[in-house]
Amino acid sequence: MTPTHEQLRTWDREIVWHAFTQMREYEPFIVERAQGCTLVDIDGREFIDGVSSLWCNIHGHRHPRLDAAIRAQLDKVAHVTSLGMSNPTTICLARRLVGLAPPELGHVFFSDDGATAVEVALKMAFQYWQQCNSPRPEKTKYIAFADAYHGDTLGSVSVGGVARFHEMFRPLLFDVIRLPAPVVYRRPPEVPESDLCQYYLDQLEQELQRHHHHIAALVIEPLVQAAAGMRVHPAGYLRGVRKLTRQYDVLLIADEVAVGMGRTGTMLACEHEDVSPDLLCLAKGLTGGYLPLAATLSTGQIWDAFLSNYSESKAFFHGHTYGGNPLGAAVALASLDVFQEEQTLSKLCFKIEQLRQQLTRIEQMDHVGNVRQQGLIAGIELVQDRASGEPFPWEEARGMRACQHALSHGVWLRPLGNVIVIMPPLSIEPLQLDQIVHAVEQGIIAATENDM
Ligand code: PMP
Repeated sequence: MTPTHEQLRTWDREIVWHAFTQMREYEPFIVERAQGCTLVDIDGREFIDGVSSLWCNIHGHRHPRLDAAIRAQLDKVAHVTSLGMSNPTTICLARRLVGLAPPELGHVFFSDDGATAVEVALKMAFQYWQQCNSPRPEKTKYIAFADAYHGDTLGSVSVGGVARFHEMFRPLLFDVIRLPAPVVYRRPPEVPESDLCQYYLDQLEQELQRHHHHIAALVIEPLVQAAAGMRVHPAGYLRGVRKLTRQYDVLLIADEVAVGMGRTGTMLACEHEDVSPDLLCLAKGLTGGYLPLAATLSTGQIWDAFLSNYSESKAFFHGHTYGGNPLGAAVALASLDVFQEEQTLSKLCFKIEQLRQQLTRIEQMDHVGNVRQQGLIAGIELVQDRASGEPFPWEEARGMRACQHALSHGVWLRPLGNVIVIMPPLSIEPLQLDQIVHAVEQGIIAATENDM
């Protein structure tokens, strides 16, 4: 028997435990269908998917090429384990991924989510120093950034730095060397913007000088610290980090879970600064936003350190049941085809520019402290006072209120605290992008009008 809408709402409120959601306050929003960049709820109401179903949808929903790829794979096999065996689709995807990554990254370890891609990279980096040609077993620590977010498994939470999410779990986590986030907005007042990049690189170098003997790897979200509020790094910072990590013999882990797969205007964010990391993490948009699949790409140097006889136990003892699942691999391959066939990246330049122009309007609004953009990612920070940048108390949930209002303008968004995020599928149409920005504008007015 088909459940009624009321039953669905009740069960959704009372049985389903939603991620990052206070269930006592949860109001069901149940999407039944979607087409292109539009979500349709069980009552038939339509909303533009303004944050790509949590930053992962690339070519829109129900793309015929992607749907067909999954169906075709289903006619072959739905799942093959990666423990000691393989399947053609997953092999071909690995080959395609090393083709689009910097040439040093020649190997792919598949898992299933962003957090696991990072967890894999952390463990690979650790094990590398234990068993490389000239082992450095004392290299067991990591450098990570304040306000970083790398996922919710305990390893990825350890390198994460979002106090509100992570503090509760502190006793379970390993220690890391924490660098201040390389922010532009709310930067130290004595540092002019033109010196900011060097200022943060100097801080990193000081830590490296002091601790490099003990550091296995530095983990970074290239260009944009996403969950921190879409904070864009000073230009040149990533390149500087790569230079310093090489100089001090520290592996570089690039977490491109949020920024990879075209999001910043190039296929990989590292391309902007011509950087080749030692380990590269991909997930979210890897399957076009269809299925859970993640990849950790490694250099030959790391791969070689894990090669030996069976009896030496140098293999990477880590794996997930569905890592490299062929249905996910099939849709990931189709997504890469669509990038080529639809010229997704070259069309994206115009949308990025359109967004940039539209955001200049938002920038002028009362209670907008800062607007930042990188590619098709924008973060709009609401503040109590524009001049001083004094934040709204997070308990007032201004961002959430703005996004709730945007629903009445037909746009679904999810904020990060007081930062409104615009991050639609790359296939968004210009008129839909206009509609998103308009809804954001109205949402900001509604969420802040009592304070004007
Ligand atoms: N790394 C980054 C940079 C992310 O933004 C996220 C998710 N928002 C993750 C890792 C974790 O990905 P997942 O939710 O797929 O585990």
